[in-house]
Amino acid sequence: MDDARALFLFRSARELEYHHRDVARQKQLLEEAFAGLGWEAPRLLAEARRAQVFYFDTITQLRMDTWTRGRVTLAGDAGYSPGAAVGGSTSLAIVGAYVLAGELAAAGGDHEKGFHDARRRCART
Ligand SMILES: Cc1cc2nc3c(=O)[nH]c(=O)nc-3n(C[C@H](O)[C@H](O)[C@H](O)COP(=O)(O)OP(=O)(O)OC[C@H]3O[C@@H](n4cnc5c(N)ncnc54)[C@H](O)[C@@H]3O)c2cc1C
Repeated sequence: MDDARALFLFRSARELEYHHRDVARQKQLLEEAFAGLGWEAPRLLAEARRAQVFYFDTITQLRMDTWTRGRVTLAGDAGYSPGAAVGGSTSLAIVGAYVLAGELAAAGGDHEKGFHDARRRCART
């Protein structure tokens, strides 16, 4: 195997300032976040420093007032993903779609009632 990958996850108390194309700055932020750690961290950081393939991003969650507009509704990640740090998003997407389908069927063509009832049911569970 000639390809090893490492994933670093960290939480920052402040918003990180970097440009999405400024890889040098991103690597600097990574080094700062994991500075002084033991175990294999220094070696992994050294590898990350010279890595040709490097991806750096934030885990961001937007909260919206509504998931629906007119006859259109969001489902799954687009509407209510808990985020990669929490997990279970696939289950949530499937259960959310299942509940939505059930409530739309029960509403007998009244999509606004179906959307409303699906959201209320999901909020209870
Ligand atoms: C690296 C990684 C690891 C993950 N691990 C886990 C895990 O262990 N457990 C877990 O529960 N979840 C995990 N998830 C999250 C999980 O993949 C998602 O929560 C799940 O796929 C959401 O399903 P979805 O149908 O809402 O969205 P998606 O799976 O993103 O499906 C959206 C679809 O819409 C398509 N699309 C986008 N724009 C358009 C357009 N304009 N027109 C037509 N089609 C379009 C996309 O191509 C895609 O096929 C992980 C995600 C990532 C990225």
